[in-house]
Amino acid sequence: MYQDQEGKKWWKGNLHAHTTKSDGKVSPKEAQRRYQEAGYDFLALTDHWYLSRSGHEKNMLLLSGIELDTMKNGCWHIVGIGLNRMPDAERGQSAQELIDAVREAGGFAILAHPAWSLEQPQDIAELEGLSGVEIYNSVSGFPYSSRADSSHVLDLAAKYGMRVPYIAADDTHFYQDELFKSYIYVQAEECSRKAILESIRAGRLYATQGPLIQKACIEGDRFVVECSPAEAVIFYSASVWQPDTVSRQPGITQAEFVLKPYDRFVRAQVIDKEGKSAWTSAYTVR
Ligand SMILES: [Zn+2]
Ligand SMILES: [Zn+2]
Repeated sequence: MYQDQEGKKWWKGNLHAHTTKSDGKVSPKEAQRRYQEAGYDFLALTDHWYLSRSGHEKNMLLLSGIELDTMKNGCWHIVGIGLNRMPDAERGQSAQELIDAVREAGGFAILAHPAWSLEQPQDIAELEGLSGVEIYNSVSGFPYSSRADSSHVLDLAAKYGMRVPYIAADDTHFYQDELFKSYIYVQAEECSRKAILESIRAGRLYATQGPLIQKACIEGDRFVVECSPAEAVIFYSASVWQPDTVSRQPGITQAEFVLKPYDRFVRAQVIDKEGKSAWTSAYTVR
C-alpha cells in the first residue's frame, strides 16, 4: 500500500493465479505466503473451474476466484472474482454465458489475456458485463509464450466502443519467471473485501509493472497524466501520429495529450528507465 499526494490509499494486488488445485505448481497456502512476503495486500487464487475461498489472513485479503474457459467461437478465458458460490457454468458455453454465470454468482468478470487467446476486437467489444480486461498477463510472455501485451487488440476494441478497466496480472502458475511481474493498484479507504471489490467495480485502479500513476484524467481538451519519475509517457488514441504522442525526458513526471477532433478514446502508457510499464484504462473522449 502507498498513499498518494492527496493521502488516498492504493492497495497492491494480483487477481489471477493458479495453484495445485488446477495446473499451478504450488499449494494455495504457499501461493498466499509468497505474495504476502512480496508485499501484496490482496490476492485472488483463480484455478481453472475451481472456486477459491475468500478471507483475511496475515494482513492479506483473499478474494474468492475462478477461471472459466471455452473454445466456443474462439478461445475465451474468463476470470471471476468475488463470487459467493460456484458459478452455474459449463465448458462449451459461450464467453457471454460464462460472464453472465460469474455475475449471477455475485462476482465480477475479467477477460483474461485477449492477445494470447487471439481474440478479435469486434468480438471483445460485443461482450457485455465485463468489469475488467487484462492489458498485460505475465505468464503469456517470454519464456513461456510471446503475447503478454494485449494493448494493441484492446486499442482496436476501444475503437469499436469497449470501455472496461484495464488490469495487469501474473496469471501465476509458479513456473518461475512470471512471479510478481505485473499487478494492479486499487484505490480504496481500506483493504476490506467490500471496499476493494467496490473500487474494482468502479474502475478505481490501474495496471503496472512498477511505475506509479498519480493522476489520469481528461481536463478540457487534454488528457493529463502524472506519474512517478519515468523515461517516457506514450498516448494512444485514434490519432495515428501527432507531435505530442510521445513525451520523452529522463525523470518525467507529467505529460499531456491534446485531444484531436477524431479521437473517441485515449489512454496512456508510462515507461520507466528499467523498461517497466504502467497503463491507464481507455477513457471516452466525448
Ligand atoms: Zn487463461
Ligand atoms: Zn489463468
